[in-house]
Amino acid sequence: MKITAPRGTFDILPEDALRWHWLEATIRRIFGYYGYQEIRTPVFEHTELFQRGIGTATDIVEKEMYTFNDKGGRSLTLRPEGTAPVVRSYVEHKLYSRGGITKLFYMGPMFRQERPQAGRFRQFHQFGVELLGTESPLADAEVIPVAVELYKELGLTDLEVLLNSIGCPACREEYQKELFSRLSSLRELCVSCQQRLQKNPMRLLDCKNPRCRELTEDVPQVTDYLCPACSEHLEKTLSFLDRAGIGYRLEPRLVRGFDYYTRTVFEVINSGLGAQNAVCGGGRYDHLVEECGGPPMPGVGFASGMERLLLTLEQQGKFAGFSSAPQVVLVVLDEKLAADGFELATGFRREGITTESCLEVKSLKAQLRAADKLQAKFVVILGEDEWKDGQVSVRRMADGKQWRVDREEVSRFIKDLSGREP
Ligand SMILES: [Zn+2]
Ligand SMILES: [Zn+2]
Repeated sequence: MKITAPRGTFDILPEDALRWHWLEATIRRIFGYYGYQEIRTPVFEHTELFQRGIGTATDIVEKEMYTFNDKGGRSLTLRPEGTAPVVRSYVEHKLYSRGGITKLFYMGPMFRQERPQAGRFRQFHQFGVELLGTESPLADAEVIPVAVELYKELGLTDLEVLLNSIGCPACREEYQKELFSRLSSLRELCVSCQQRLQKNPMRLLDCKNPRCRELTEDVPQVTDYLCPACSEHLEKTLSFLDRAGIGYRLEPRLVRGFDYYTRTVFEVINSGLGAQNAVCGGGRYDHLVEECGGPPMPGVGFASGMERLLLTLEQQGKFAGFSSAPQVVLVVLDEKLAADGFELATGFRREGITTESCLEVKSLKAQLRAADKLQAKFVVILGEDEWKDGQVSVRRMADGKQWRVDREEVSRFIKDLSGREP
């Protein structure tokens, strides 16, 4: 029986790898402008980290984690998200003791056992930033443009920032009580919402079920319950965004799925191709560091999935010109010249010319066809007659123009010609 990749996983084939390289390089460049430094954490962690960090009442922890016991009987989990591991590392290495504010970003595979569907995978990739060490609303206002400017740079259009404040534990408790008293008698809520009602009533606002949405339509908004400090924090965040000309829409139903969020939560939506897609989500988490065993240390950040981002960009035609075509394909017409061809190809590569050497001597026609398939810019032909005169033929594939060139001169000749359009 043929062995295939596990359900919900996929291979990144060479032509796709180019897109990933480009995306990763762009992320690193833009995050660098904002002063974020990369952190890399293991793909598995102690299960307890996610139970404490994400919260046991979330779908991720309840249903979606890849959890297993290692041979020592320890419960480990493949990371389902990036924030808790980054915070764990921040605490473990006391990065807060280096003074001031810590700005970190991460990028890599995450794992969730979800039902596979279009654009959703069990091994998927995320990147994100975490700004740790300040409660200032300036930090909330600062992480939002990191995301927005990155998406613009990538070429996404029709972006919108949705923003809300879900308050601190104190003001949220009041709100949760109010929601509970209004909704607990409703028997029509979906099964998930019945459960959410017991554990975290605010998450009912997140339900996609149309009937649940109807039933919760008239509930009060969380922003009406904010304590004075949370209220002021929200106002300041908004005023900073206004001042810098960063557009947003207040969305009172936005709550986000993780228990660790406090105050600001936000999403960036892309409505470029009709359907509205959240390309990133994030928010403030003022108690997560403590929850992970560190000192009281506030933080704010966002995470973004990479698969759907690449899919959207592909649909917008972003990758049309992406190619790994070689500059030169070497064509050897006689077995006796195989070693000479190999030497020549090695020389080209040392000169920084991307080259496919000739590994099998075939007819000129067959080799030219292969070079054409590879979309080579030039073909360098080693034929017996030219080689005796110390020369090779250089053929420009775009227009079929051909030159005889001294073999010592050929790499310089190709470099000169590469700079000019045919
Ligand atoms: Zn509050
Ligand atoms: Zn529901």
